[in-house]
Amino acid sequence: MVMLHRCIVNGRETGKAIHIARQKVAKAINCKAKEIYFTSCGSESDNLAIKGVCYKNKEKGKHIITSKIEHPAVLHTCQTLEKQGFEVTYLNVDSNGMISLSELENAIKKDTILISIMTANNEIGTIEPIKEIGKIAKAHNILFHTDSVQAIGNIKIDVEEMNIDLLSMSAHKFYGPKGVGALYVKEGVEFEKLQDGGHQEKDKRAGTENVAGIIGLGEAIELSYKEFENYNKKLIKLRDYYISQVEEKIPNIKVNGDRTNRLPGNANISFEGIQSEELLYKLDEKGICASGGSACSTGNPSPSHVLMAIGVSSKMAKGALRVTFGIENTKEDVDYLIESLSQIVSELRK
Ligand code: PLP
Repeated sequence: MVMLHRCIVNGRETGKAIHIARQKVAKAINCKAKEIYFTSCGSESDNLAIKGVCYKNKEKGKHIITSKIEHPAVLHTCQTLEKQGFEVTYLNVDSNGMISLSELENAIKKDTILISIMTANNEIGTIEPIKEIGKIAKAHNILFHTDSVQAIGNIKIDVEEMNIDLLSMSAHKFYGPKGVGALYVKEGVEFEKLQDGGHQEKDKRAGTENVAGIIGLGEAIELSYKEFENYNKKLIKLRDYYISQVEEKIPNIKVNGDRTNRLPGNANISFEGIQSEELLYKLDEKGICASGGSACSTGNPSPSHVLMAIGVSSKMAKGALRVTFGIENTKEDVDYLIESLSQIVSELRK
């Protein structure tokens, strides 16, 4: 009896805590709490959004539009759908990583059911024209999904104002716990569930909820937008200082991505004549963590698909270093990084 009572109380408390987290996420992106579905990560959210919408709407059409620089969670999902009879158009990007709105309009066909374009790129930080894409999608009555895994917490997103129908996020990208994500799906947009089982998440995502993770995600998203202006200013200052110092102190480099229209903490620079792996190894010895192309493709020796898409030569792409500054970094950290980089690059070039 006591056990049963405790279970009911805990069940109620858990449900309430999940509901509060849902409200916090909804407030951050300006939607209703019931439009948020919790998942295990950004990849799951991308899969659920894209496959879910495609399977539900396959009678209406089988054409999807995405870009060449999406994260593998989107690109590989699209490739799987191609094997299942869907047709995918992969939009080009310019040398800064921006899609062209006129190319997007021209790619739309009678049977286009979904546009999926990332909010901000994980490797080069470029921010896509999401509001304009949303407007085009709405005018053509096509659903619009955006992978906002890198953007949430870093830039402001208003799904209403930007005409976004589905949006993916992942908690650890905004200082929340690992292993939990969320998907926003506009009320009225139908999608098929991918996982059979219980009736959790309004019957759209079976499986016991990661309660601690969900609570952490809710707290993290609330905190990141509370401190948004301060974080942003600080990160932009560190990023721009780093880029200008590298340009001043190290010859034969190339800054990849847009100079200003990029995520506040992201800097991606190619060093001629250097292999990223060697650079990363030497930086690691000095206690500095960075990444070659994308952290997700670490161990993949082929040059980054994002850098190739923006026209970086494969030689320069192989020498790319992505640095992501966080809220705890200081100017002294950047100075230490520059000093270490200058020394390592000149040694490796010898
Ligand atoms: N989309 C983007 C843009 C990402 O940067 C990542 C991860 O880095 C993902 C999706 C996948 O998210 P997760 O690692 O939570 O599955």
